[in-house]
Amino acid sequence: MADLAHASLAELARALAAREVSAVELARLYLARIESRRDLNAFLDVRPEVTLAQAAAADARRARGEAGSLTGVPIAHKDIFVTRDFCSTASSRILEGYMSPFDATVVDNLGRAGMVTLGKLNCDEFAMGSSNENSAYGVVLNPWDPKAVPGGSSGGSSAAVAARLAPVATATDTGGSIREPAAFTGITGTKPTYGRPSRWGMIAFASSLDTAGLMTQSAEDAALVFNSMLGFDPKDSTSVDRPAEDYTRHLGTGVKGLRIGVPKEFFGAGLQADVEAAVRAALDEYRRLGAELVDISLPNAELGIPVYYVLAPAECSSNLSRFDGVRYGHRAEHYRDLTDMIKKSRAEGFGPEPKRRILIGTYVLSHGYYDAYYIKAQQVRRLIADEFQSAFRQCDVIAGPVTTSVAFGFGEKAADPVSMYMADLYTVPGSLAGVPSMSIPCGFGAGPVNGGRPVGLQLIANYFEEARMLGVAHAYQQATDWHRRLPQGV
Ligand code: GLN
Repeated sequence: MADLAHASLAELARALAAREVSAVELARLYLARIESRRDLNAFLDVRPEVTLAQAAAADARRARGEAGSLTGVPIAHKDIFVTRDFCSTASSRILEGYMSPFDATVVDNLGRAGMVTLGKLNCDEFAMGSSNENSAYGVVLNPWDPKAVPGGSSGGSSAAVAARLAPVATATDTGGSIREPAAFTGITGTKPTYGRPSRWGMIAFASSLDTAGLMTQSAEDAALVFNSMLGFDPKDSTSVDRPAEDYTRHLGTGVKGLRIGVPKEFFGAGLQADVEAAVRAALDEYRRLGAELVDISLPNAELGIPVYYVLAPAECSSNLSRFDGVRYGHRAEHYRDLTDMIKKSRAEGFGPEPKRRILIGTYVLSHGYYDAYYIKAQQVRRLIADEFQSAFRQCDVIAGPVTTSVAFGFGEKAADPVSMYMADLYTVPGSLAGVPSMSIPCGFGAGPVNGGRPVGLQLIANYFEEARMLGVAHAYQQATDWHRRLPQGV
């Protein structure tokens, strides 16, 4: 095994199985890489002693002949998943230094498979944002261009995988937070069907949308990890009780005769020409590989943004009420009485974006506005979900851009929340419907500024068809090498 730092997860798993490298050696290699790229600010908590102990346990397990395919493979977790051995902050001051008494189910599943945790990854506070500029612990830099955002909310996850500080990272997607940062950093980001990954131990933002997924180099790597990560969890009331399946089973299927739906609403006026060109070229590649392109329509998709920005704040205003200075995290030092303590703790602990959303959410749920905003948004959500079902009668998967532009610059949208919210234009419809969706690298932007910034192709499949979607992505990645390109210096 030559270049372990740039190897894919599949290659690392093979090297471990062949005993060409030990889990401890791999852990040391990645810890050193993390240390050498502190400038990116991708990691919030790194504890080499914990990582090396897990790696030693993985090696011992292999020596006993009890290793699985992922035993000893390193992984990093978005700081939205609670972990017993690392701080769990959701990138918020209100949870600074918080140690959870248990691991999230996703973390636990991967730990039981023998994966080794490298640390916790920066993100937007409570996963609210599209640029990672909302973290209380500072922005994350995009490894392709330090002037560009890494995307959000899973910006630490995307930067870490793009810079090869981890072969794989967990992430979460509520309205686009896996697909958008994956697109901005030239990696593969996959969100399964809502209800397929457990939400237990995922710090809640908008519970009817929050979905755990992965940042990887390739679709193949994602499929390998999903085999251990996904599954029914009785501790999560929205977990779907379906038999386990092999997510790698479509990796060799190819795309001959596949009908790819191209929604006209995803190619509207806001789409930048360089992104459109790269996406159209990817669609042509699929045609060359034997797929058929079908024009489809998702007429209400453009209402996704207003619907999402009513529903997500409504759910977050309820979820974030648990942070009261009594049970978790930050408590104000000086206060008069209980009410004053709660007010001050929340005022000091939450950053501006969670505060804005708590206010919006409380407003749309209040008496007199509930029917006009919340109920109306739920009704339009249903229309959007139904439109996906009619689209999937005409096609097998849907493809289009992930974002209207390549990664934007720091500060470009931060002062204008509505322009930031528009970054989710093409990702939010799939989230509202709860269908699986992913972003795969398909080119680079044009021009002197955008030339080095990656473009993502979005794939969307019907409920529980993530294995097929991964196969469709894999076919493209077998024929192209965008997913193998590395940022300069990486
Ligand atoms: N950018 C969206 C938001 O700010 C989506 C975030 C997410 O998917 N967690 O809510």
